[in-house]
Amino acid sequence: MRITCPACGSGKLRGRRDEAAEVVQVVCLECDHAWTHDPWACPSCGRQMHAARRPLLEKARGTQQSIIGYRTVKLCPSCDEPEDRSEGWLSAS
Ligand SMILES: [Zn+2]
Ligand SMILES: [Zn+2]
Repeated sequence: MRITCPACGSGKLRGRRDEAAEVVQVVCLECDHAWTHDPWACPSCGRQMHAARRPLLEKARGTQQSIIGYRTVKLCPSCDEPEDRSEGWLSAS
């Protein structure tokens, strides 16, 4: 995700990650404006996103799919689809 300075719109930024708070301290190199970027805030609506584990699937022989691992994704409660929406749920009548 691309971050720009809210004061001058510059993309020349310096960031320092605060591991404890899970936020990023950002300083604009153009105008010295400093702010805290919350990586868990949705870039579209600003709501707090939550982490969800998504399975990594690999096509095995035939039609079987096997789970080879998990990756963590960020989901917004407003902008992203609910996790439990499975294919066919919408078209079922
Ligand atoms: Zn700036
Ligand atoms: Zn959102």
